[in-house]
Amino acid sequence: MQYALAPEVHEALVGWALEVWPEEACGLLLGRGTRVVAARRTRNAAKRPLLGFVIDPLETLAVAEAAAEGGLEVVGVWHSHPQGEASMSSADRRGNPFALAVVVPILRPPAS
Ligand SMILES: [Zn+2]
Repeated sequence: MQYALAPEVHEALVGWALEVWPEEACGLLLGRGTRVVAARRTRNAAKRPLLGFVIDPLETLAVAEAAAEGGLEVVGVWHSHPQGEASMSSADRRGNPFALAVVVPILRPPAS
């Protein structure tokens, strides 16, 4: 299935990924069907956020409820790879309950 990610959504994901680098950033993708129109950042609840991510199910529920009020649903999950890998790890595949998973590969923040 092909999903369409709005450009401003991609920009937001990159911005969040840079903010917490070198830790992994994570969150949820909101939309309708195969259209992703918004994203939410969630807390990375992993014990070792440098090496992985965990989204608290209660936070997922809260985001889903708020999205439903705006007529949207959680269509996927996103997270960053601070070491720049562009593909999903086997742990990523195991831990994703959604049809869509987006990885944001970020090597390092630009010098400010
Ligand atoms: Zn990953």
